Amino acid sequence: MYCDGGKVFVEKEDQCMSCKNFKKGVECPLLQALGFGVVTLEGTLYVTNCGFYSEYKRHLNLVNEIKTDEE
Ligand code: SF4
Repeated sequence: MYCDGGKVFVEKEDQCMSCKNFKKGVECPLLQALGFGVVTLEGTLYVTNCGFYSEYKRHLNLVNEIKTDEE
């Protein structure tokens, strides 16, 4: 995670990538604090043990290929 030009960028190494709070956008207290300028971030920080982390689980399943009469 790093800040550039007033924007917060999350990287694939960050725990946030699988966090429900990140998927929902605005429910992360850290991202909110950074966004509002309440806290600042110098350099790069990899989020690995966040106390607000909530695992995001996908509920999509792969389905078998559907055959049509045209094949
Ligand atoms: S709650 Fe923690 S892990 Fe989740 S998006 Fe915010 S900083 Fe990342």
